[in-house]
Amino acid sequence: MGRKFFVGGNWKCNGTTEEVKKIVTTLNEAQVPGEDIVEVVVSPPFVFLPVVKSLLRSDFHVAAQNCWVRKGGAFTGEVSAEMLVNLGIPWVILGHSERRQLLNESNEFVGDKVAYALAQGLKVIACIGETLEQREAGSTMAVVAEQTKAIAAKISNWDNVVLAYEPVWAIGTGKVATPAQAQEVHAELRKWIESNVSAEVASSVRIIYGGSVNGGNCNELAAKGDVDGFLVGGASLKPEFIDIIKSAT
Ligand code: PGA
Repeated sequence: MGRKFFVGGNWKCNGTTEEVKKIVTTLNEAQVPGEDIVEVVVSPPFVFLPVVKSLLRSDFHVAAQNCWVRKGGAFTGEVSAEMLVNLGIPWVILGHSERRQLLNESNEFVGDKVAYALAQGLKVIACIGETLEQREAGSTMAVVAEQTKAIAAKISNWDNVVLAYEPVWAIGTGKVATPAQAQEVHAELRKWIESNVSAEVASSVRIIYGGSVNGGNCNELAAKGDVDGFLVGGASLKPEFIDIIKSAT
């Protein structure tokens, strides 16, 4: 199937210039499998994107954590997809649950953002995932299908999309999904994509897992057939991110 392992580091709203430079130095000195084996993308806050991009090793890439839903203009505080392209930022994370929950980003809004970013030439890490309440109510699959459907409705080419399944109850909680839980949702999602998009996209799209991934649990998760990598929050600020990258092999 040839889905290249993908490891993203979501630094969220963390860091000073000094701290960010320190993380980059650690990454630059790390011995990791080559780009043919694993795609590594780190996502600093907007203000640090230029410095990280300029200092980071050339086999790792950068992502923004968000971008505006349409062409820039009179949208105070927003950053447009065009600006990211102008800066040479190849990737953007969209639909992260923190934005869905804290800023009320709806499924439709996220779908529009994904479509607009792709149309500008960005590659997108699109996040989906259920809350604990939804899981306990047995609606995990319905929720992630609905979130994916809102994206699928707006795009026709999935080549530049990585789907990040991030159960909300696992994010920043230390309560990681078990490998079986992650595999179950990833496999179901792939089936949903096969039925609702195409068999080709279902077999080629990378579905990565996020939520309390760390150096200790990454290998077991990575061993699952439908887990094509990770989106890492807290641990991506620490040297153990290197171990997570190495779980590709
Ligand atoms: P976490 O965050 O690894 O700190 O749980 C993951 C994410 O929000 O992408």
